[in-house]
Amino acid sequence: MTKFSLALICLFATGTFLSCQNNASRQQPENTSKPVDSALKPLREKVLTAEEQKALTPDRVIEILKEGNQRFRSNNTTLRDHSAMVRDAAAGQYPKAIVLSCVDSRIPVEDVFDRGIGDLFVARVAGNFVNTDILGSMEFACKVSGAKLVLVMGHEACGAIKAAIDNVKLGNITAMINNITPAVAQSQDFQGEKSSKNEAFVEWVAKKNVLNTITTLITKSAILKEMADNGEIKVIGAYYDLHTGEVIFL
Ligand SMILES: [Zn+2]
Repeated sequence: MTKFSLALICLFATGTFLSCQNNASRQQPENTSKPVDSALKPLREKVLTAEEQKALTPDRVIEILKEGNQRFRSNNTTLRDHSAMVRDAAAGQYPKAIVLSCVDSRIPVEDVFDRGIGDLFVARVAGNFVNTDILGSMEFACKVSGAKLVLVMGHEACGAIKAAIDNVKLGNITAMINNITPAVAQSQDFQGEKSSKNEAFVEWVAKKNVLNTITTLITKSAILKEMADNGEIKVIGAYYDLHTGEVIFL
C-alpha cells in the first residue's frame, strides 16, 4: 500500500468517525420511542402520558426545563417528528407546566425550553401579568389538567415594562400597563436613573414585576395557593436574557 492510499483511507476513516460523533452528540429526548439511525430521520419523541405526568414532581419539571434551556443555548435541541406528535397528542394532553410569558416575538417559549407538542401550556400577555382570565387558565392547567409548575417569565428589554416606566397613554395600552405600574412605583430602593433608557432599571422593574405577578397569583387564586401549600405544584419566576437565550430562575 502506498503512502498516498494509506493517507486517503485515514482521511475517510476520520471523516466517518467525525460524522458519527455529530449524530451521537444530538440530544436524545427523555422518552424516545426509536433510536436515531440517520441525521435525516427525525427523532420521534412520545407525547407525555397521564401516567408519566403523574409521576413527575414540581422539582423534576424545573430540572427538565433547565436542561432544555441548556440544550437551546448550546444549539443542541431535540429533533422531533411533529406530524407523528400531532397525531399522538390528539387523544389528550398531560403537560408538565404552564408558562406565563410576555408576547415578545424574540421568546419562542417551547423552543427556549426545548419542549415539544403536548408539553407546556403557554399563556402570553405583554408584561406577563395575571388577570382573571389568565388565573382561570392557570387553574385549568394545574387543577384540571395536572400541570406541576407555574412559571412566570419576564425578559430583558421588555417594551411593556418600558411603556409602564414611561407611563404611556395610547389606546388600550394605557389600561394594560396599569397591571405593571406597581412594580415601577415600588422602586424606591433602586439606585440610579429611573428611566426606560436605563437598561438596569428596566431589568429591575421586569424582575420586580415577575415577583409581583407571583404574589398576585397566590393572593387571588385559592386553588393555586392550596396546591402550592400542599406541594402539588410550585410557582416560580424567571427572567429571559435576550442576548444569551438563558432563562435565569429567580
Ligand atoms: Zn415584553
